[in-house]
Amino acid sequence: MYCRNCGNEVSDKAIMCVACGTPPKAGDKFCYNCKAETNASSTICMKCGVSLKETAPVQEEGRDWLTALLLCFFLGVFGVHRFYTGHTGIGVVQLLTLGGCGIWALIDFIMIIVGSFRDAEGHLLVRR
Ligand SMILES: [Zn+2]
Ligand SMILES: [Zn+2]
Repeated sequence: MYCRNCGNEVSDKAIMCVACGTPPKAGDKFCYNCKAETNASSTICMKCGVSLKETAPVQEEGRDWLTALLLCFFLGVFGVHRFYTGHTGIGVVQLLTLGGCGIWALIDFIMIIVGSFRDAEGHLLVRR
């Protein structure tokens, strides 16, 4: 493939371009597949048609920490923060038990504050 910053040919596994010193996929000036010059805003190469955004590092999209914290604080006894984080089953139980008489909601609140609360997919909440 080619360095997206300077167009130099680099190994597919290269983490840094030897010619310009940046990660080969970090640039936006050249197509990594055919070396055609690309527009910084284009998502596909106009010449060979490969997706240029596909190579960008995938950002893990976690749920928002502050949102979960506020939901738990204000609506924790209704399990709203559990619905927000995808724990629908637990959310229903908390709703029916009023957050385990508030104790369960309080425990969840503390877990969110200390940053050990995970959503249903196992991701930690993201502080933005
Ligand atoms: Zn380069
Ligand atoms: Zn191309």
